Order: sequence, then structure tokens, then C-alpha cells
Amino acid sequence: MERQVVKRAKEAFLSGRTRPLEFRLQQLQALQRMITEKETEISTALKQDINRSQYDTPLLELIGIENEIKLAIEKLAEWAAPRHVEKNLLTISDEVYIQPEPLGVVLIIGAWNYPWAVTLLPLIGAIAAGNAAVVKPSELSEYSSLLLRALLPRYLDKDLFPVVTGGVSETQELLRLRFDHIFYTGSSTVGKQVMEAAARHLTPVTLELGGKSPCYVDKNCDIRIACRRITWGKFANCGQTCIAPDYILCEPCIQGQVVERIRQTLLEFYGADPKCSPDYGRVINQCHFNRVMSLMEGYTPVVGGQSDASQCYIAPTVLKDVPPHSRLMQEEIFGPLLPIVTVSDMDDAIRFINEREKPLALYIFCTDKKATKRMIEETTSGGVTVNDVMMHYTVSSLPFGGVGQSGMGRYHGKHSFDQLSHQRACLVRSLGMENVNLARYPPQDRRRARRVRMALRSPLIDTSKRTFIWAVFATIIGFGLFITLLVILLIAAGLNCTCWYWRGFYN
Ligand code: NAD
Repeated sequence: MERQVVKRAKEAFLSGRTRPLEFRLQQLQALQRMITEKETEISTALKQDINRSQYDTPLLELIGIENEIKLAIEKLAEWAAPRHVEKNLLTISDEVYIQPEPLGVVLIIGAWNYPWAVTLLPLIGAIAAGNAAVVKPSELSEYSSLLLRALLPRYLDKDLFPVVTGGVSETQELLRLRFDHIFYTGSSTVGKQVMEAAARHLTPVTLELGGKSPCYVDKNCDIRIACRRITWGKFANCGQTCIAPDYILCEPCIQGQVVERIRQTLLEFYGADPKCSPDYGRVINQCHFNRVMSLMEGYTPVVGGQSDASQCYIAPTVLKDVPPHSRLMQEEIFGPLLPIVTVSDMDDAIRFINEREKPLALYIFCTDKKATKRMIEETTSGGVTVNDVMMHYTVSSLPFGGVGQSGMGRYHGKHSFDQLSHQRACLVRSLGMENVNLARYPPQDRRRARRVRMALRSPLIDTSKRTFIWAVFATIIGFGLFITLLVILLIAAGLNCTCWYWRGFYN
């Protein structure tokens, strides 16, 4: 079945109908209509999947998708246009440009925590770049997955953008087939298997993975505001967000204050019993519930800790003085547990971060600009937000993606378009001016070789419109100056002759 779906997508791509920009715009507009018209159904599916509140669904997922579609529609012509680049001396009179072109059929494999964003955001990039795409949502977010399968063919071209549902075996079946790009969102463990499968066909991959995103809180920052922002980012979607702050790093002298502020914020956000709050979610399934609960074993939480297996409910939980080598600090938590690890100062925090895998995100709460800059310079991560959490995700002009173990490749806005396009190098020459080329042909001699070397070593020349206008302007001014100078000289010479004449006459 998977084989047939991919074959149809390939044939549809080869028919060439994704090439015209009008077609891509029409598909993007249809996708936009789907989100607007089906918002209630999507919210209901997420409520069933993960107990997501009806207010959080637009805030955390749908508005971002709509913004990306709007941006792609607005900018598509600009993104898809050939980009003229600098030339060398040998190609000065030629056309030199980069032409973005579609890759072919893209396989999009999504995770369950934001099942719409992780499938539709790459799909927007795939459509904009003129590709076909096979979408494989996660089987764990079952309601969303089934709804996506029902909705997408009603709005988009059925052959170009099919949805394949199913679990591990269906995904593995897809991975055996040949695609032109694989865009995977999920855990690093499965990411490695995806890359292995892709290598068999030399298929390029984008891996949007996870990891432990640290959050450093400086003792001199406004701890009340810092903790409110951290609490929101950590416990939204019940802690199941790839860029949620995974753990806090702070000095021992503020640890108590941080705990108290988070406790107060939780009360403000979810009331005395978060289980009854319509704004607090649930862990996706029993298996993840057991995994997250097991991470807590051996610790006494200072906030929360309550659970109800029948509802996959785990209260927002804070654990303090967590040892750096504990299991809690070895794997991505991806649930509502927030460990605090103490460090002696910022240098110690930097050392702590650099001793571990490169994270997907890094958060720094600090008002000292110099210290903040130093922390950014001396660490690495997929993205970084200072004095807030997760907000870099909302800026479409910033590339979103990991580094090292947290992933490879990037997307959002134009980055999605570029990621899913081939940047074709184009040089269009004429058959004229053959004399210029003679130096590179055999038989070679010292003089010819020197001429070729000089031409090849010439600096790149920008012949873009602006440079051209400046060059014309400078030539006109130069020419004007030259003529003025000439006129002055002629007048001076004329005067001189006249003087000589009169002098001769009187003498
Ligand atoms: P998951 O279990 O839903 O898996 C993701 C996809 O991989 C699914 O479609 C699933 O069918 C497929 N899959 C699972 N096991 C497979 C296997 N053995 N072989 C082939 N395919 C398989 O999701 P998950 O992996 O539990 O997702 C959570 C992870 O995703 C976390 O680490 C989180 O940080 C990360 N994540 C990252 C981003 C990002 O943008 N970087 C976004 C969301 C989630």
C-alpha cells in the first residue's frame, strides 16, 4: 500500500504540476482554509489525544501554522526567484545565478506532542518549494492522526500530498522506499534509524530531535518574572514540548526562592489542584506515564509529585538539589518534572552545559548583558532565548533546528523553503568572445598559464543592479569632471595664446 502511495506521489510530481507558483499558492491557500474551517475539530482531537485546552491549541499550535502559511504565500515569488550572485573575471559578461528548484517527493514523519505543527510546518515548506510530500503522523496522537488523514485529501491534491497512518511497521515500510528528502521529527533514537535507512538511498535528511534544554537563572535577575516564564514553558502541554526547559541551573543561594516562586505561579496558573484545571494537560499514554514516573523514583518532590495512572495525570513537579549524575539528568524528561541542579556560578553553569550533548535550546535569565553575551559565546545549542523560554520558536525569520545530538537541518519561514529546495548553480554563457578563453586551452605555455591564473584569482565582482547603477553614476560624474577639466585647460591655453599674441603685438 505504502509503495503505491509513494509511486502515485512520484508520478504526480513528475507530471510537473507543482512547478507553477500559482499551483503552490493555491495549495497553500487551501491548507489555510483547512485550518480556519476545522479549528474546532482539530481542538477536539487534541483534547482527546492529550487533554490540550481549547485555548492552548491555537496559541501553541495553530496560530504558528497560519502565520507560516501567510508568510509563504506573501513571499513565495521572492523565495522562488533566481538569486543573482557575484561573478569572477572570466564570467563577467555571463548570467550567474542560483535557481531554487523542487527536490521531488519528501517524506514527513511527525511526532505526537504537537501533531499538527510537526507535520504541517514542514508540509508548508514542501508545498512552497514545489515538492510532493507523503505525510506520516504519529500513531500515538491517534485522533489527530485520523483527522489529518480525513482532512488533507479534502483540501489538497490527493496524489501529491497523501497521508499514511500507522505505527512503527508502516513507518519502517515507508523508510525502505526511496524519497528525495526525509524530514523527521521525534526522538534521537529513532532519528538514527531514519538516517540509517536514508543512507541506503543517499537521501538527505532533516532531523528535528530533542534533548535536555538547560535553563540558567542568574541570582541577580528578577526571579519572580523568570519563574513565571519558566513555569509556563515547562508545564504547557504537560511538559511534552521539545524546547521546554528541561532543568534549571542556579546558585544554591536562590534555589529556595526559585522553588517558592514556581509554587506560587503554579497556584496562579492551575489552582490548588491542577488535575481539575482545564488548562493542564495529560501525559500522552500509559507507557510515557510509567517512564516519567520512574524518573522520579528515589526523590521527594518539593512541589507536586501526585499522579493518577488511570488518567495519565502527573502533577507539575519540582525537584531540588538533583545530583548531576542521576537518571533524571541523563535523558530528556519530556514530562511535567522540573529538576533544579545547583552550580557555583555562571562559569560552572557553562562547564556543566558544555560537558553534555548539544541541546536543542538554551535559556538564560540574566540582566547583565556582558555576562549573557559571554554565556551565548561560550556554549552552543540549536537556539537560544534570553530572559524568556521557547519564544525564539515564534520568530519565522530565525532558523529552527538542533545541533549535534539535537538534530540537523533547519526550518520555519524561508529556511523551510531553502531546506526543501535544491539550490541549483546556473552559469549561462554565450559562444562569443572566444579570444578571452584561448588562454585556458592547450597547448599551454608559461604566458598563457600566467594569464589564466590571474583571471581565476581575480576577486569576485558584484554586478547586481545597485552596483551597476553606482558604476554608471560614477562613470558619468568622472566623465563630467574630465570634460570640465578639459574645458578649463583649453580656456587657460586660449588665454595664454591671446596673452602671447598681444604681448607680441605691443612689442
Ligand atoms: P513518536 O514515538 O511519535 O515517533 C515519531 C515518529 O517516528 C512516529 O511517526 C512513529 O511512527 C515513528 N517511529 C517510532 N518508532 C519508530 C521506529 N522504531 N522505526 C521507524 N519509525 C518509528 O515520537 P517520539 O519519538 O516519542 O517524540 C518525542 C521526541 O520528539 C522528543 O525527543 C522530542 O523532543 C522530539 N520532538 C522534537 C521536535 C523538534 O522540533 N525538534 C518537535 C517535537 C518533538
